[in-house]
Amino acid sequence: MKPKTAYRFDTRVIHSSQSPGSWQGATLPPIFQTAAHAHETAENLSKTFAGKTTDHIYMRLTNPTNRTLEAKLADLEGGQGAVVTGSGMAAINNACMALLRTGDEIVSGNSLFMSTYLLFTKIFKKYGITANLVESTDIEALKSAINEKTRFVYLETIGNPKMDIPDLTRAAEVAHASGIPLLVDNTLASPYLCRPIECGADVVMHSTTKYLSGHGAAVGGVVIDSGQFSWNEERFPDFKPFIERKGPLAFLDKVWREHHINFGTTQAPLHSFLTMIGLDTLALRMERHMVNSIKVAQYLNERSEVAWVTYPGLSEHPSNRIAQKLFNGKGFGGMLTFGLKDQETCFRFINNLKLIYHLANLGDCKTLIIHPYSSQYSSFDEAEREALSITPDLLRLSVGIEAAEDICEDMGQALDNL
Ligand SMILES: *Cc1c(COP(=O)(O)O)cnc(C)c1O
Repeated sequence: MKPKTAYRFDTRVIHSSQSPGSWQGATLPPIFQTAAHAHETAENLSKTFAGKTTDHIYMRLTNPTNRTLEAKLADLEGGQGAVVTGSGMAAINNACMALLRTGDEIVSGNSLFMSTYLLFTKIFKKYGITANLVESTDIEALKSAINEKTRFVYLETIGNPKMDIPDLTRAAEVAHASGIPLLVDNTLASPYLCRPIECGADVVMHSTTKYLSGHGAAVGGVVIDSGQFSWNEERFPDFKPFIERKGPLAFLDKVWREHHINFGTTQAPLHSFLTMIGLDTLALRMERHMVNSIKVAQYLNERSEVAWVTYPGLSEHPSNRIAQKLFNGKGFGGMLTFGLKDQETCFRFINNLKLIYHLANLGDCKTLIIHPYSSQYSSFDEAEREALSITPDLLRLSVGIEAAEDICEDMGQALDNL
């Protein structure tokens, strides 16, 4: 039989790591809803604790449903292994903490998801860790910010709300020249659009809550290890026992053994199951998200009430060219931002909408809108919001997979009635 990993991406999103044979013929992975697993013999449990079997012990450590999703996501991203977590933030926190010690530094793009921004600039600071944030698309600035204390370079494939896209290939070269890995949050692109490991990235993280699920019914995250980075002893002396145990998957072992288990960032298997149901349609959904996004961006661009539209698919966007290169002409993602006159106009617009959901999420099959200045970023001070381009006139739209005409018509009537 042809190995499942030999198929094309659109087939693998459905079939990879599915093994009905071992599931008594079920075509969906069972939800193993059990806190712990019984072992026939004392010897087997002892061996399992020593990592000498792939059996399961306790849900906080591993779970068969979660493992199926892990194999699938590792395959889709071209990685060697993965750990799923209870949320995207748990994945990001685990991946970073596995690398950081007091006194260490991070070099990161400044176009960051809000909680990641807070983690880097406020929370890690409490533990003596410094994050040096530079313009995400400025690879020279990334390079000059790296020093002997830097443990990794961190980027998001598509930044938000600027929708800026860094050249991951060059960023990986810069990081590797200094002997450090590149970590990429690939949530907004999804592996359909971009596979950072193929660009040279070493670790990929996702909030599976978003495009990978697509239905808004599950929360989750994942850390994927390329298995290709060489953890040199001088810069990463703390990796030694993990290298001895797991070789190329030393990083993932450290994430799992030190952080996932002890911080208790477990994914509930029901959420892995729901994520896998969503994954089946990822390729099809992404196609439609992107066709719709272009139409919606063009529609908004033509409306006189709309002051500006930021979407990488518009030729005037500064990341338009790099997006075409990195995403192989497949598209430009499903998110855009646009500006109305001021906050009051944005509020009136949101309140006029009839179809589009007003909520704090993205990557759903439904079109979603939010006014970030007054919601997620409301506790940020003015200077910080300005630095992050979170202005009072900005609305963020996650374009869904409905009929593009209905999305545009809903926004059209909301604009007409301002
Ligand atoms: C939502 C999101 C996260 C956080 O994921 P949760 O599942 O909400 O914890 C991280 N990064 C990006 C880019 C996101 O959109």
